[in-house]
Amino acid sequence: MPITGSCHCGRLAFRIEGEIPAALTRCTCTFCAKRGALLAYYPPQQFSVTQDAGDAVYRWHTKLVAHHFCRDCGVATWSDSPDFGRDGSWDGHTRRIGVNARLFDGWDAERAKVEVIDGRHLW
Ligand SMILES: [Zn+2]
Repeated sequence: MPITGSCHCGRLAFRIEGEIPAALTRCTCTFCAKRGALLAYYPPQQFSVTQDAGDAVYRWHTKLVAHHFCRDCGVATWSDSPDFGRDGSWDGHTRRIGVNARLFDGWDAERAKVEVIDGRHLW
């Protein structure tokens, strides 16, 4: 069954052809620590934007990651990122979408298992 979700005001919505991972990811980098998203990662072909009426993008540091958020309600939605390995390496072309699992419909991210990635010291 596809996963659906949206920002708070509904201007941004998405659909994922995939499953909720066994564990979500919380990143410790300076941006993620303030943003507070719990991420579920998918290949770009499994992710589609179904409603786009308020998208905005923030990039920082290397500018390689596009952190999307709603320009109206401000909710963090998804990040389009190089498919970094846990050591920070990248093949130069493969991408992944880190979706804020707090936005998934009919599901409580607070109850999910969470793994921490130490982004503060990786990039
Ligand atoms: Zn919104």
